[in-house]
Amino acid sequence: MHDHSFDLFVIGGGSGGVRAARMAAQRGARVALAEAAALGGTCVNVGCIPKKLYSYAAHFAQDFHDAAGFGWDLQPPRLDWARLKANRAEEISRLNGVYLRLLAEPGVRILRGWARLTGPHAVEVRTGSGTHQFTARHILVATGGTPDVPTFPGCEHVVTSDSMFDLDPFPRRLLVVGGGYIACEFASIFNGLGARVTQLYRGEQVLRGFDDDIRAFLAAQTRKHGVDLRTHSDVRAIEKTADGLRAELLDGSTLMADTVLYATGRVPNVDGLGLDTVGVAQGKLGAIVVDEHYRSSVPSIHALGDVTARLQLTPVALGEAMVLVDHLFGTGQRRLGYDYVPTAVFTHPNIATVGFTESQARETFGAVTLFRSEFKPLKQTLGGSPERTFMKLVVDTASDRVVGLHMVGPDAGEVVQGFAVALKAGATKAMFDATVGIHPTAAEEFVTMREPSAS
Ligand code: FAD
Ligand code: NDP
Repeated sequence: MHDHSFDLFVIGGGSGGVRAARMAAQRGARVALAEAAALGGTCVNVGCIPKKLYSYAAHFAQDFHDAAGFGWDLQPPRLDWARLKANRAEEISRLNGVYLRLLAEPGVRILRGWARLTGPHAVEVRTGSGTHQFTARHILVATGGTPDVPTFPGCEHVVTSDSMFDLDPFPRRLLVVGGGYIACEFASIFNGLGARVTQLYRGEQVLRGFDDDIRAFLAAQTRKHGVDLRTHSDVRAIEKTADGLRAELLDGSTLMADTVLYATGRVPNVDGLGLDTVGVAQGKLGAIVVDEHYRSSVPSIHALGDVTARLQLTPVALGEAMVLVDHLFGTGQRRLGYDYVPTAVFTHPNIATVGFTESQARETFGAVTLFRSEFKPLKQTLGGSPERTFMKLVVDTASDRVVGLHMVGPDAGEVVQGFAVALKAGATKAMFDATVGIHPTAAEEFVTMREPSAS
């Protein structure tokens, strides 16, 4: 084993790569990690963290509005976009330093440059000082994903989520294309920050894959908040004019925008990695195919996180890294279950969900019993916003097990994280009914829904 310079060579210093490198080094393995850009990857630099900071910023708009009903008189509030960007950049740079320390303390060797595979145990890294060759017993590819923009006339004028955090100037008119996580989140966020937002989705309803009630409810709330959300709509071409970007839509109408955000999905980051030369099997969109131990078709090369294009979520990449390190350097007992993985969409209001949608549950279990509740949150009785909250339970009728729990409302992610434990543990509706609520909260509604609702 000591013929190689490292026990583990990690390519990519994002959520999955850093976790794997750190945990392996803490177990005594000799570890190197190559990262070409900022440490922390997508989540820290252009994903979860800056997105959530901007979501908080956007929520202030609603809080200022609601404050009047609670007796507060405020000056007309004004967003200082430059200050928000500077404060975000400072916080992200602090986090980059935290990631550096997390790696350096257990002794991970950090190589700042692009890496590519040159053999089953060999990696080449291009750094500022030249090209360096390394060998390792195990190699981990954790290179994440990258935004995918379709090709159409004028596509060179659009931006992706990577550019949204540092836009200059602030886009007064924003056109968002897509109906997934990123499109919905950024439409809400920039609407809250004061942009006039139009969102185009090519299909029937945004957020394909989520429960149909949740999709419809969120779409209605988004429109109430002022986003011009249009379904069955798409861009044919974009032209740059003196007054901004002119988008021609498929129905022949036109729209003017300062910025056009394409949030049309992400693809695995595999370009130039040398996967084909080494013989690593790839699936749809180039994703690395792995087995339950995250091993690729080349046994010494592993992959996890977004580059494997399964569940593209930070906690999943982290969980996979823990399983891999346990498999390579520990007991090999650890597994990650892909069922009942909770997720949130940081729209305004938030969505959070765990388990089966109604239609998935019908397909899997047959008969299901549904519980729904829609109400005006207490805060809005004085706050005056038209925003409402929606909750839904999906119960497998035969076993009484709660197999799906869905919410659209303030802090939905905070609420659903706790209930995810109950669903993972197999809680039944009777157990929900036997649980005492916390009053007055929105969350208590999940344990007080008694009347089944129609399908
Ligand atoms: P990444 O974090 O993308 O890291 C890959 C790293 O590899 C990058 O730093 C890259 O520079 C580096 N790299 C690539 N190729 C090479 C190479 N050849 N040599 C050296 N280095 C290389 N998930 C959530 O759970 N919650 C959220 O709220 C959330 N919000 C998101 C918002 C946005 C806008 C986006 C885009 C994503 C969001 N995600 C969220 C998804 C989450 O960011 C990803 O699932 C997660 O970052 C995946 O981790 P990873 O380690 O697989 O890859
Ligand atoms: P998604 O796959 O979630 O959504 C892509 C959207 O773009 C879909 O609505 C899709 O439509 C549409 N689309 C795809 N191709 C085209 C096209 N050619 N023209 C017009 N529309 C198109 O991708 P995102 O980019 O939003 O996000 C990527 C992933 O990142 C997410 O799936 C998620 O895993 C992760 N993420 C997680 C977040 C969180 O946890 N809060 C936040 C942000 C990202 P259709 O439905 O018809 O295919």
